[in-house]
Amino acid sequence: MKYKVMTLFPEMISSVMETGIIGRALKEGALELQTFNIRDYADNSRAQVDDYPYGGGAGQVIQAEPVYRAYMAAVGKTEDKQLNKKRRVIYLSPQGKRFDQRMAKEFARDDELVFLCGHYEGVDERVLEEIVTDYVSAGDYILTGGELPALIIMDAVARLLPGVLGNSDSPEVETFYRDLLEYPQYSRPEKWHDKDVPAVLLSGNHKDIEEWRLEQSISRTGNSRRDLLERYTEKNALIERMKTARVQNIPASEALFFNDSDILFEGKDLYLIFDHDNCVLYAGCYDKKLAEYDKDEIEKVRSIIEEYKSVAEKCYFLNVQGVACEDKCKELIMITFTERNPISSARVRDYAEFGERLKVLISRSLLQGRTFYEFLGLSQIMQIEDAVKIGLYTSRVLSMDLSREK
Ligand code: SAM
Repeated sequence: MKYKVMTLFPEMISSVMETGIIGRALKEGALELQTFNIRDYADNSRAQVDDYPYGGGAGQVIQAEPVYRAYMAAVGKTEDKQLNKKRRVIYLSPQGKRFDQRMAKEFARDDELVFLCGHYEGVDERVLEEIVTDYVSAGDYILTGGELPALIIMDAVARLLPGVLGNSDSPEVETFYRDLLEYPQYSRPEKWHDKDVPAVLLSGNHKDIEEWRLEQSISRTGNSRRDLLERYTEKNALIERMKTARVQNIPASEALFFNDSDILFEGKDLYLIFDHDNCVLYAGCYDKKLAEYDKDEIEKVRSIIEEYKSVAEKCYFLNVQGVACEDKCKELIMITFTERNPISSARVRDYAEFGERLKVLISRSLLQGRTFYEFLGLSQIMQIEDAVKIGLYTSRVLSMDLSREK
């Protein structure tokens, strides 16, 4: 990942970024940082880059031209027409979309992020219109400049990148993972100021420790973030419901359980989930026959899929009849997105013929603690190993009892 920062205070950026874990990542080459001092691109000898606002009012505004030149230097283009609109250029602004963990994950998928830090009353609107792709806010308060928000974003994104955190630090089991705040943490000594470390943590019983941590997480989240707890409860209720046709619903349950995902639709027959980590949509049903699904629900799900087409890289129309209802499998409809292309749909006609073998394949992968995600998307049976080789998903270690057949 390359960070390029346009700023009036490059030393503010470099001094923070060269410290601690991020500093180590810069040294080791897992990250790159370049700063561009907007003053270096002034067109006057005093290096002045701000002027009064047209129409009057307090303060000064950073002018368009020096920002534009700094941008050209940052992106390595010399002609206006060659502006690369696809590159993400983030203007830090209290008027932007509020930064959060989900946005950090989205930014972490890019190879390069360009930041523009404003000062004074802001930046001339015309250059913003020309170069900025994302307006991002650190929160609902006003700071003197965009450097601190840029640093926050660079830090949050960096720790999601491979090679930035050491092996011992995991970005997975943390606050916001599974919509819960993290449980309390303790380290040596066992007694401090007459306070003991909770006994369960010293017991060595991993199951008890896991249960205790989950309870603590739930109660903390309930105390200070009821919004998150509601999401958590809603997802668990859906996972429970999915267990009626558990094998077929595994990919979607896992997306809910392990990943950063949203329930986009939950009806009496159908559900639709968006997995933000993998940009995948899962549409599925609980346990009914296609012919009986509520027509309005089908329409609703289709229209939401349509809305998400541009952000979803794939969509799985799961199970509909699935492995447990092989007699109806000729009705199975599969919709796939490939790499942000439009929907293509196909009918799997000969599903019944290989139903039994498919069952064996899926059971075997479950026994191995993995889920063969793309079973519905394959027109022929594949060995799990072959599927993995070509990059199909396998599940993470399952700790839900969804991993076992009824
Ligand atoms: N006049 C501007 C307005 O009302 O939107 C605020 C200007 S602020 C004093 C100066 C600069 O600090 C902004 O251009 C922006 O880059 C940065 N800034 C201030 N608060 C911010 C926030 N909450 N999030 C992101 N950037 C912020």
